[in-house]
Amino acid sequence: MRILAMGAHPDDVELFCAGTLAHYVRQGAHVTVAIFTNGELGSRTLSPEETAAVREREALRAVGVLGAELLWLGAPDGFLFDTPDTRREAVDAVRRSRPDVIFAHHPGDYHPDHRAVSQLASAARLLAREPSLPSPHPATDRVAPLFYMDTLLGTNGGTPDVWVDITETMEAKEAMLSEHLSQNDARRQRKGADFVDLTKQQAEYRGQQVGVRYAEAFTCAPSHPATSALDLTPAGDDVRLPLCATPR
Ligand SMILES: [Zn+2]
Repeated sequence: MRILAMGAHPDDVELFCAGTLAHYVRQGAHVTVAIFTNGELGSRTLSPEETAAVREREALRAVGVLGAELLWLGAPDGFLFDTPDTRREAVDAVRRSRPDVIFAHHPGDYHPDHRAVSQLASAARLLAREPSLPSPHPATDRVAPLFYMDTLLGTNGGTPDVWVDITETMEAKEAMLSEHLSQNDARRQRKGADFVDLTKQQAEYRGQQVGVRYAEAFTCAPSHPATSALDLTPAGDDVRLPLCATPR
């Protein structure tokens, strides 16, 4: 099984779906993490170039903890749009990773870069199948199901369709997020708590909704072809996830 997780900034995938990705990896799935921007606005002390270099190193280490492949797409932080160029990059990412499942940001997310990724993923999963669209990689043979990741503390993301119990993989999620030292240090100084604390709070909140200790929540993309919760673990594949589809 092959998974593609698309995030705008170097720590987004960790925040919103690393526990679920760890379940996939532990069962032998190949996971690709595509990061669209350099994240160069993520420091108030370093130059944008220095910040981008630091964040790429941190992202590589984090993805290494998971045992996944990193695609660093290098768009400017804060200025990610659905343009012909970024759309081609997104199509290439889908064709190169050939996913059975795609994760991307929610279309109602608070951050404009996140919303751009949502739009890019929706377009790329369709266009990747069109053989007449030129690309260094061959066209895919089907449209992969698309799941929108959670938003920060669930804000403006509506009611999720499916929850994954990540109690067993929470440690891996925290280990990945811990690799983003620059972001954790900055947030701790500003707010007294870092992203590991934040993700624990969010996973507990989602877990409480379905009666488990920690969970991640997802929304099925309604656009054609519509995604269903069952697409997280397609029939005929050995990979299984601890799904909690009904909120309590
Ligand atoms: Zn982000």
